[in-house]
Amino acid sequence: MSNCLFCEIMKGNIPSRKVYEDDKVYAFLDISQTTPGHTLVIPKVHVRNIFEMGSDVAADLFSRVPMIAKAIKDSNENIKGANIVINNEEIAYQTVFHSHIHIIPRYSDEDDFSMTFKDNSKEYSDEVLDELQEQIASKVEKGAK
Ligand code: 5GP
Ligand code: ZN
Repeated sequence: MSNCLFCEIMKGNIPSRKVYEDDKVYAFLDISQTTPGHTLVIPKVHVRNIFEMGSDVAADLFSRVPMIAKAIKDSNENIKGANIVINNEEIAYQTVFHSHIHIIPRYSDEDDFSMTFKDNSKEYSDEVLDELQEQIASKVEKGAK
């Protein structure tokens, strides 16, 4: 897609530090390097985000992530783990609208990445949780493409 930063990077029209490429995906160092080795994995087809992604593109994209994550971990003995993050739409901090998976290596609990899951479980009654479950389950398309 024209005017897409990551399409231009993938085509080589904008320089990037590539760490992996095949016919389906392209992986390169994030310019911001939240922690050293912070890598983005993108599909070669232009897809805005997870909400526009079919299962074929998802299978191609996600199947490469374990291999790339392991390579990142193997690249530095100080890497103790990794957070794998996908931001979808502005409300969820997406800033580049070509879907991408962040692999953020973790070195210590004082490195430059953090994430907080608030525990609000006490505020939800069984009735409310039943309704949430039903609302979502009824929308799931089995075997969706
Ligand atoms: P988002 O916030 O959309 O999930 O992540 C977009 C990411 O793209 C950010 O972490 C940002 O640092 C990275 N980024 C933005 N522009 C460039 C660029 O020109 N080159 C590279 N390698 N990364 C970029
Ligand atoms: Zn694109």
